[in-house]
This record gives sequence, C-alpha cells and structure tokens, in this order.
Amino acid sequence: MVCIGCDEDLYEEMLNESYPEADVCGYNYSAGYLLRQIDSIAFRCGMNDHTCNCEEIENKQAEVEKIEEDIERIRTEAKSDDEVKEMIDDLEATAEELEDDISTLKEEGGYRE
Ligand SMILES: [Zn+2]
Repeated sequence: MVCIGCDEDLYEEMLNESYPEADVCGYNYSAGYLLRQIDSIAFRCGMNDHTCNCEEIENKQAEVEKIEEDIERIRTEAKSDDEVKEMIDDLEATAEELEDDISTLKEEGGYRE
C-alpha cells in the first residue's frame, strides 16, 4: 500500500492533478513533474507534509482479518449458545469500527493498494 505521504510517483500525480501545467519556453510540463525535476527538496518537503498512515491501515486490516478468522472459528466450533452469539456480536462490532477507521484514513491520504 502507498499514499501521497510515502510514494513520490503518487505525490507527483496528485500535484499534476491539482495544479495547471506550466509553459516553459513554449513547452508544456505537468506541475508535479516539473517541481520534482527542478527542486527535489521542495518536492520532498511538500510530500512530507502529508502524513503516511499506510502502516496503521495495514495493521488495522490485519486486525480485521484476524477477527473474521476468530468469528469463523467460533461459528464452526460452537453454535446456538447465547454467550457465543454475544462474542461474535462484539467481534463484529470491533471489526466494523476498524473498517470505519480504515475508510476514513484512506479517504484522507489518497491511498492505493
Ligand atoms: Zn503511505
């Protein structure tokens, strides 16, 4: 997974889409491409202003997967017990919260798998 906070190509792409092309001696260049070429330090500084949440998202996704496995195991090993149903409900609620967090984080940073 990458985002505009950790991937130069993705950040350049974002800049290209956010700023108009520049005319240099009659040639047109994308803004992000140009900045990356002529001032790599400014380019990097700009990129570093964006928080990278890739690791956090991946950790949360791993948690969700683990919860789903737990639910699957509880379902197959023991059925029709109120306590078990409660456990599954709790796990599902936790997984949903994590999924919400993941969506919010992804929306914020233009994340790509
Ligand atoms: Zn990232």
